[in-house]
Amino acid sequence: ACQTPEDLFRLIRDQKVQIVDLRFTDLPGTWQHFSVPPDAIDDNALAEGIGFDGSSIRGFQKIQESDMVLIPDPTSAFLDPFTEATTLVLISNVRDPVTGQRYTRDPRYVAEKAEVYLKSTAIGDISYFGPEAEFFVFNDIRYGQGINHAFYYVDSDEGSWNTGRDEHPNLGHKPRAKEGYFPVPPVDTLQDMRSEMILKLMEIGIRIEAHHHEVATAGQNEIDMRFDSLTRMADKLMIYKYVVKNVAHGRGMTATFMPKPLFGDNASGMHVHQSIWRGEQNLFYSEDSYAGLSELGRMYIAGILAHAPALLALCAPTTNSYRRLVPGYEAPINLVYSQRNRSAACRIPMYSTSPKAKRVEVRFPDPSCNGYLAFAAMLMAGLDGIQRRMSPGEAIDKDLYDLEPEEAKAVKSTPGSLAEVLNALEADHDFLLKGDVFTRDVIETWLAYKREKEVDPVAIRPHPYEFHLYYDA
Ligand code: GLU
Ligand code: MG
Ligand code: MG
Repeated sequence: ACQTPEDLFRLIRDQKVQIVDLRFTDLPGTWQHFSVPPDAIDDNALAEGIGFDGSSIRGFQKIQESDMVLIPDPTSAFLDPFTEATTLVLISNVRDPVTGQRYTRDPRYVAEKAEVYLKSTAIGDISYFGPEAEFFVFNDIRYGQGINHAFYYVDSDEGSWNTGRDEHPNLGHKPRAKEGYFPVPPVDTLQDMRSEMILKLMEIGIRIEAHHHEVATAGQNEIDMRFDSLTRMADKLMIYKYVVKNVAHGRGMTATFMPKPLFGDNASGMHVHQSIWRGEQNLFYSEDSYAGLSELGRMYIAGILAHAPALLALCAPTTNSYRRLVPGYEAPINLVYSQRNRSAACRIPMYSTSPKAKRVEVRFPDPSCNGYLAFAAMLMAGLDGIQRRMSPGEAIDKDLYDLEPEEAKAVKSTPGSLAEVLNALEADHDFLLKGDVFTRDVIETWLAYKREKEVDPVAIRPHPYEFHLYYDA
């Protein structure tokens, strides 16, 4: 990685870089980019930035004030493993040329401000995040030949979709719903693809912990990156999605981070492991306590649980997210915490007894979220719990899917729709405004965008299942 502009100029020379690609993330969370020749990257560009039109970027400026500037971050430099020309990618910060300030709707700026805010509270000095973004791959051909997606929704009650390989014709055995985890090949047809993905990620300098098939039939995967600090990890999540999609594409497949593409089978979540440290000390660890979790860690969980409905608007921010958050698929629907329970919103993993490994796993996020905003929001919720010394109550270690009706009533569950969690965010966002991490404008823009572009358009369209229910009625 380049620490200084000089490091960057040297890298461009040494690697004979032909193209420099500048990238930034729009408000919903998709990478946008444009390219410049390497000689455009000089001291002036790093200080003053390079202009672009921000008017057509989702969630950014209106037309009349659309000139934006990108300031490349040299520490983010990596060589793109997919381009023909030698291409250096620089993740960039967005600046508003009128005010000369960082642009408040730039998700990366929100993430950086959350890190600054943590330091300012003196609770700790660094937060670590480890997302486990699951994804599906499908044969391009299913979509390429124009097969109607609706068909799959209506007819998949048996949950027997054999994704990730050709459906036409089905001549033999195939894994059934929820049986993808995790027999060796040939049942697992995606070993080579995942290996190629992690090799590319490692080439870029991202440390990997594991790759494996996931639970859904065939075609659901997970790659785990080693944890990192908040903004860096959000950067890495963007690189991860880019590599996953491009490797799949190169193999005639499409990868999707849509949470619930298949009815009747597991969905894709993005559990996020998190902890707060002071120097070398993990503040979430304490020896003689439930699950080895410190009082600080408990209060952090309390903040996450208390703000969960509002957090969901940023962590599970699509209408499709709420098709995942239903009972029976290892997705969390209960706003409780537990050492081992996978239906709990917060889990305290017990894989390791090392103090350094102690962390909270928040399970409700899914990979359709914008990592910068989701990580920042969760940190702010946890910090609010700590500042207000909240209690998360008792841990629940029995299987939450099997609670008696009486017990179940006492357990709050995740709201059932994007519309509901947007209302929750509208009612509960003061914890996000502290330290100007999220501005009111960002919250308002998010609510308006999600309502106008997603909730309303989905609500006014006839759903395929309605044809099943009503067409012949
Ligand atoms: N796919 C599950 C989810 O939606 C999680 C499976 C797991 O525990 O890794 O969260
Ligand atoms: Mg998983
Ligand atoms: Mg997990």
